[in-house]
Amino acid sequence: MIPKGVPMISKRASEFTSFIVMDVMAKAEELERKGEHIIHLEVGEPDFPTPKVITETAIAALQSDKTRYTHALGLLELRQAICDYYLKEYGVTITPDQVMISTGTSPVLLFAMLAIIDHGDEVIVSNPRYPCYQNFILAAGAKIKEIQTYPEEGFQYRHKDIQKKLTRRTRGIIINSPCNPTGIVMTPDQLKDIALFDGQYIISDEIYHGLVYKDRAHSILEFTERAFVINGFSKLYAMTGWRLGYLIFPKKFSAVMQRIHQNFMISANAFIQWAGIAALTQARDDVAGMVKTYDERRRYMIDRLKDMGFMIHVEPTGAFYVFADGRKFFKDSYKEAFRITEEAKVGVTPGIDFGSGGEGFLRFSYATSLENIKEGLSRLEKYLKKKNNH
Ligand code: PMP
Repeated sequence: MIPKGVPMISKRASEFTSFIVMDVMAKAEELERKGEHIIHLEVGEPDFPTPKVITETAIAALQSDKTRYTHALGLLELRQAICDYYLKEYGVTITPDQVMISTGTSPVLLFAMLAIIDHGDEVIVSNPRYPCYQNFILAAGAKIKEIQTYPEEGFQYRHKDIQKKLTRRTRGIIINSPCNPTGIVMTPDQLKDIALFDGQYIISDEIYHGLVYKDRAHSILEFTERAFVINGFSKLYAMTGWRLGYLIFPKKFSAVMQRIHQNFMISANAFIQWAGIAALTQARDDVAGMVKTYDERRRYMIDRLKDMGFMIHVEPTGAFYVFADGRKFFKDSYKEAFRITEEAKVGVTPGIDFGSGGEGFLRFSYATSLENIKEGLSRLEKYLKKKNNH
């Protein structure tokens, strides 16, 4: 028996926030168990199978016993393939000692924070933003400094708003382009502007790179070397369940990143790293096919949502999300998301999940078939018409 009065959960752990979208999904599943048919537009996960060439490479790697630990930073061959990829895509030169492979981008976000943050430090995040960021920062002992961003400006930071919040303790600024939840892609000028902050590290979450439907995404590394790039295979290669991601960091962090990974992970899965090489070098056509399909769905979804009366302030041209302003219809996105799930039988993510700056918005994912999107949006339209008539 643990004596009374002994705290059982650390203060830090009790402060970790949860994904509200999980609660919506739980509600949707509860309804499905009762026999209801739900269309899932809340899920942020590709609906495509992993390209065959990747799966076959993993099987071949398993069959040839690639089942041991690898170098703590990851297989040299995969790290080299990532360097080649960044050179080809962005024209930036990095070397394998600046790359660390891990089991998804989520862990590398934590490890990046451990490498740059001390207790009491601060990291700048936007509001709204991907909800996990704050918890990685908290886990590493630091605090978030939120910067309000505005829909009419594509939810981008205003340089002077960051400047006002900088203190001696500000260690990093997180950016995410293409962005979850907004689907917005930062322009080279916007990236250049962030790179001007030279007293902090820029932590650039580039996990949606490649899923871009107009122009192209630029890496922060084109504008500064003072950056930690977070990237991975989950989204572009439809590999969420494989758990494979990587971190690119300034050279002077090489030894410390190796030490961090040795201690906390030892290494990423060996045979999955071999599959990662196939993804980077042999899955180009598969990816092009997925991108084309996402784009068709994107255009359809944007048009339908606008027709229904949602405001889409800046066209989302990346990732697989539309962040739609529904303030005309409702104020409380949390309550509304549940109501839509229960009454219209469509799962959607409430904007409040991404911070107070997302209130009044809903995030719609087009990582599902066009048929589902059509049906889901028709249900939503009917629901909104009924709601407006009351
Ligand atoms: N960053 C962003 C913005 C994401 O949306 C996600 C996945 N939802 C991740 C990081 C984490 O991805 P993973 O751990 O699957 O690589």
